[in-house]
Amino acid sequence: MKPAPLDYEAPTSLADAVSLLCDPDREAVVLAGGQSLVPMLNLRLARPELLVDLRGIEGLDHIRLDGDRLAIGAMATKRAVERSPLVRENQPLLHAATLCVGHPQIRNRGTVGGSMAHADPAAEYPAAAVALGARMRVAGPDDERDIAAEDFFQGYLTTALKPGEVLTEVSFPTMAGGKGWAFC
Ligand SMILES: Cc1cc2nc3c(=O)[nH]c(=O)nc-3n(C[C@H](O)[C@H](O)[C@H](O)COP(=O)(O)OP(=O)(O)OC[C@H]3O[C@@H](n4cnc5c(N)ncnc54)[C@H](O)[C@@H]3O)c2cc1C
Repeated sequence: MKPAPLDYEAPTSLADAVSLLCDPDREAVVLAGGQSLVPMLNLRLARPELLVDLRGIEGLDHIRLDGDRLAIGAMATKRAVERSPLVRENQPLLHAATLCVGHPQIRNRGTVGGSMAHADPAAEYPAAAVALGARMRVAGPDDERDIAAEDFFQGYLTTALKPGEVLTEVSFPTMAGGKGWAFC
């Protein structure tokens, strides 16, 4: 199967991406790593008219400490998370969860934001995000807002993202000494 005909845009700024997603004449969706979206397009379970590729936008793939939180850009790949000493030291549960995602080829391309926005209940990241009290930063046509992970995931493949909104960052509380964890 091939996708139904669609347009493709690769904006270089977040503002342009949001503007394209708000196009009233075309139903648009974000393209990140494409690992979940492209199969859905090929099976025609999704039939958007426009793909808005986020890969050309700088500044969405950071991994950094932000006070007592570990902030990860939505376009950071799972491989980058897996290899980050900051993640391993400050949020070891997330590191352990990352190692369980598919295989290296999947982690090379799949993004943190894509996994969260796809909201597959069988995926590692949504469960880890809720368990750890993650916070989702979202940019939309009006403003930015933060959504607690427990409010972000609303059901099977369903999130609190509104039309036109882009998930830009996921932040996790760092794990200070004295806390224990396990990931099964
Ligand atoms: C063979 C295979 C094995 C896999 N195994 C596992 C596994 O074991 N565990 C696991 O957790 N996952 C697994 N996955 C899924 C993989 O982790 C994907 O990377 C992930 O689900 C989607 O990330 P993506 O970056 O590819 O997003 P895409 O496929 O590009 O997008 C997914 C959805 O999220 C939306 N989206 C993406 N980014 C944003 C954003 N920043 N803002 C708003 N919306 C956005 C898209 O519009 C689309 O609806 C597997 C995938 C494959 C193909």
